[in-house]
Amino acid sequence: MPQGRQPHLLLVAGARLLEAWFPGIVGELRAMGAVDLDLSADIYWHQGGGVTRRPRSTLHGPAMSRPLLERTVRKRVEALAPVRIRDRTTVAGLATDAAGTRVTGVRLQDGSSLAGDLVVDATGRGARSLAWLAELGYPAPPTSVVEIDTRYVSQIYRRDGVDPGWGAAVVVDEPAAKRLATALPLEGDRWIVLLTGLTGLNGETPPLAETDRLAYARSFPSPVIAELMAASEPLGEPVTHRFPTNQRRHVERLRRFPVGWVPLGDAVCSFDPIYGQGMTAAAMQARALGASLDRTGRVSRRFARRYFRAAGRTLAAPWSIAVGGDFVYDGTSGPRPSEPTSSTGTWPWPAPPRSTTTRSR
Ligand SMILES: Cc1cc2nc3c(=O)[nH]c(=O)nc-3n(C[C@H](O)[C@H](O)[C@H](O)COP(=O)(O)OP(=O)(O)OC[C@H]3O[C@@H](n4cnc5c(N)ncnc54)[C@H](O)[C@@H]3O)c2cc1C
Repeated sequence: MPQGRQPHLLLVAGARLLEAWFPGIVGELRAMGAVDLDLSADIYWHQGGGVTRRPRSTLHGPAMSRPLLERTVRKRVEALAPVRIRDRTTVAGLATDAAGTRVTGVRLQDGSSLAGDLVVDATGRGARSLAWLAELGYPAPPTSVVEIDTRYVSQIYRRDGVDPGWGAAVVVDEPAAKRLATALPLEGDRWIVLLTGLTGLNGETPPLAETDRLAYARSFPSPVIAELMAASEPLGEPVTHRFPTNQRRHVERLRRFPVGWVPLGDAVCSFDPIYGQGMTAAAMQARALGASLDRTGRVSRRFARRYFRAAGRTLAAPWSIAVGGDFVYDGTSGPRPSEPTSSTGTWPWPAPPRSTTTRSR
């Protein structure tokens, strides 16, 4: 997962779902060095020409690297009695019954196959199984694509006893600059600092070299992130990532599909990452999947339809937040969200809803 080296903030809803599935996991993450953040009181947030107030809240979440989260969840999953994880195994296709109406497992790259009542495609935004289903004559789900072309440059720093007086910081530049800086704490007494810009929308591309990045961070409306960078020692090299489009596959509108197959996570919906919604949205789809299976009792067309509808409902709000925020900028292209949305704010976080709604098409 190339994006694993970029900052990954777990939203409160995601942390709560993980805790419900794996009791004690948030404490375990803290014991491994994850930093507990009050997502209101601990965050210095500069946007629209000022700093937001920071009242205490009950919205707490652990801040850590994606690999720490991944390792910890993986250990918990591995400990579940019937689970077996196969490392270094590539799925190369779907196995189906003779009529091609039911998925019966997967074919592996080494030529072997695995049987299964239900195949969940969680292969990320590429959703490999869609190409295999197309070969069997199944249509792809209708897909909304909103182009943004955002560039990430991230660098890890040693904390070195620096206490800036906040737990994490977000500085959103004026809308015309189309750029943002953020600093999040990581386990191991480290920070990760992200500079990002909407390059594809004629915004800026953050520079790579440390001195250039420092100068760049100093040009933001608040100096706090530049001050943190100047006081801390960089560890390793900066890491870049390019993210082209918000992409939502409307599985809730799928009419023809084989029984025994469902997609989940980025395979269904992949958002502008600056909103930090991907992992939480994937967890919410997993909850919808479990509930749909519990409700219908077996893998059937009815089960899949129920899950597709539930996943669609779950994704409507985060999609509208991400896409609504992105449409503030000239040049954003693609279908606007059809739901009334609060897209009157500035990227990346829209302002609270007003009484007016945006035009939809
Ligand atoms: C730059 C960036 C920053 C982000 N920041 C955040 C954030 O702050 N907070 C947040 O919640 N989300 C964030 N996200 C989104 C988050 O990374 C994704 O939403 C999340 O990882 C989706 O999980 P997934 O399991 O669906 O897909 P992935 O995490 O992409 O995992 C897909 C997996 O499938 C495997 N795979 C692919 N093909 C095959 C195959 N044929 N056979 C076997 N395995 C296969 C891959 O190796 C990979 O392990 C960010 C994304 C990016 C790009």
